[in-house]
Amino acid sequence: MSELRIYNTLSREKEVFQPLNAPHVGMYVCGPTLYSFAHLGNCRTFMSFDVVFRYLKHLGYKVRYVRNITDVGHLESDGDVGEDKIAKRARLEKLEPMEVVQLYAVDFHKVLDDFNLLPPSIEPSASGHVIEQIEMTKKIIENGLAYEVDGTVWFDVEKFAKTYPYTELSGRKLDELLEGTRDNLEGQSEKRGRLDFALWKKAKPEHIMRWPSPWGEGFPGWHIECSAMSSKYLGEQFDIHGGGMDLIPTHHTNEIAQSVACCKKSPAKIWMHTNMLTVNGQKMSKSLGNSFLPEELFEGRHALLERGYSPMVVRFFMLQAHYRSTLDFSNAALQASEKGFQRLMNAVKLIADLKTSATSSFHFEKIKTEVYDALNDDFNTPVAIAALFEGVRIINSINDAKDTITAADKEQVQKLFSEIVFDVLGLKQETTGHSDKVSGLMNLILDLRKDVRTKKDFAASDKIRDELLKVGIQVKDGKEGVTWTSN
Ligand code: AMP
Ligand code: ZN
Repeated sequence: MSELRIYNTLSREKEVFQPLNAPHVGMYVCGPTLYSFAHLGNCRTFMSFDVVFRYLKHLGYKVRYVRNITDVGHLESDGDVGEDKIAKRARLEKLEPMEVVQLYAVDFHKVLDDFNLLPPSIEPSASGHVIEQIEMTKKIIENGLAYEVDGTVWFDVEKFAKTYPYTELSGRKLDELLEGTRDNLEGQSEKRGRLDFALWKKAKPEHIMRWPSPWGEGFPGWHIECSAMSSKYLGEQFDIHGGGMDLIPTHHTNEIAQSVACCKKSPAKIWMHTNMLTVNGQKMSKSLGNSFLPEELFEGRHALLERGYSPMVVRFFMLQAHYRSTLDFSNAALQASEKGFQRLMNAVKLIADLKTSATSSFHFEKIKTEVYDALNDDFNTPVAIAALFEGVRIINSINDAKDTITAADKEQVQKLFSEIVFDVLGLKQETTGHSDKVSGLMNLILDLRKDVRTKKDFAASDKIRDELLKVGIQVKDGKEGVTWTSN
């Protein structure tokens, strides 16, 4: 089988994946800033890393997946100016900042669960790691690459860039970046260089989220949280760091600089970046007004939507694009995905019914190789899905022709589909309201009740009905037979 190769933004090449400490793998992904509901674009990024997490586990690696929660320090400008996004929402809604965070954290977890994302191994929050961020800031000052001005600590980008490659990740030129920065930014006079960014910010009197520090009361900058938390849980150097492509030029560039300035080590071996979900070619974003929430998508409640689509159809739609390509949202594409998803799920169900015999003219070895080659080629899910559909075509034709395959082939195709479709791609059969298990159990119980009624054991029949009611299931004996509802 081919080796897993991952495109590294840092080297701009697909590299053979060699974990620093196999079979252990450390992966850090920048999580959400919890000041609003996660939109579908955000979900795409986390879904892409869910497939990475799932596939690495499938290959037998023991993955520690850390995805943080930003609950402090992310300013409106994504830089060093403006109000803290969460504090602003708290002020507007007259809530505690942590109430805002909790509200959106609950929703975020629910949405990712709807999409069947596995929870990360650790989900640390910035506000829970202020001490670590202060310690890291102190070290960077000690190493001469940060300085304090009036309670704010700045990272000295130009000094850093004299010794280390500051723009390695973005591939931009430092001179151009310097020229591109505007002069009139707030706080510009306090910092020595135009590109310097805050590791620690002095809190103005009205600022709610504040902590004591060696530099007075303040709060951490946005970038330092990820450096502090990734090194705490994954070590100074770990295997994979990920996030959306929009994080490359500033957030991730500064994360690398901070870790190198603190520990003389580049934090991650591989930097992975997901491309954007777009609407009519434009990045889906709250500020552009073209974003919608997963719930609106499920229910078809948005001007851009012709109707609703189920979470698994949306997941399937997302997986049909490679994570490094843009994916444009459209109703037509979702409708095609719905058909494709149903075809795939029907075929998975059909496999169990295929008849076996001693010989078979169908083989699935080639399809298996194609699927793994695709996934090993930088997690190429669309190509893997295309190979699976070749399998679907064969399964359907065996079934239609009432043909047979060998028991060994049947076992192989069953294993391939269940492992890739369910475990790696994270798709699941959709049920209407109740899980297959619950429906199966209810059919069994109501069958048994019918049996006791036939024997005129009405006491037993009533007991079944009453006990079911106690657990919230109401059985109704109507003209059309027995029905049940659950609350
Ligand atoms: P935020 O909460 O804004 O910090 O974003 C959380 C994650 O979602 C980041 O990794 C962003 O890069 C990513 N993201 C934001 N918008 C999109 C989009 N339209 N498509 C894909 N990922 C996105
Ligand atoms: Zn981050």
